[in-house]
Amino acid sequence: MLAPYMGEGGRAAGWTWSRGGKPVGNVGGAVSREAVLLRYTLTRGGGEPEDVQDALPLVWTPCTFGGSRLWFACPGCATRRGVLYLSPAGSRFRCRECHGLAYRSTRMDALERATERVRTVQRRLKPVGSYDPFVVPPQPKGMRATTYERVREELREVQFRRDEIYVENLAALMKRLERFTKR
Ligand SMILES: [Zn+2]
Repeated sequence: MLAPYMGEGGRAAGWTWSRGGKPVGNVGGAVSREAVLLRYTLTRGGGEPEDVQDALPLVWTPCTFGGSRLWFACPGCATRRGVLYLSPAGSRFRCRECHGLAYRSTRMDALERATERVRTVQRRLKPVGSYDPFVVPPQPKGMRATTYERVREELREVQFRRDEIYVENLAALMKRLERFTKR
């Protein structure tokens, strides 16, 4: 689970990532008063390591005896959460409820589906190393130039669609967060 912690002067100083009470590897990234930008590498089911970037908005609430408390806004439902979890199947941090919903309906959200479509096309180009959804792998040995050109076009299309969904999600999330913090 992922939890934010505060540093001197009530600023967001960083976050901890633990599993079963033990810290898990290193999570790099940047932190501001509004959000934590995470960068981490995941290896799922013996597959290729995957570089993940995730922006997690932060929410501050005043405490009864002064100071403020720091929370995450879950990227899935924009509710205030002390901790977020990484699902075994997914590569995104969400609250327990969001993961529960996803499991019950076995429905991946639009972004995950779009990302999976990108990976499917990327795989045809046998990429070496990262499956970062922004990557356009070079022409594999033995593939005709015309074939490569066609697959690359297809890849650009699904990458573009994924970008659109990503931006839509982020805009919707920021809007919800704005309403939330004004309350
Ligand atoms: Zn949630």
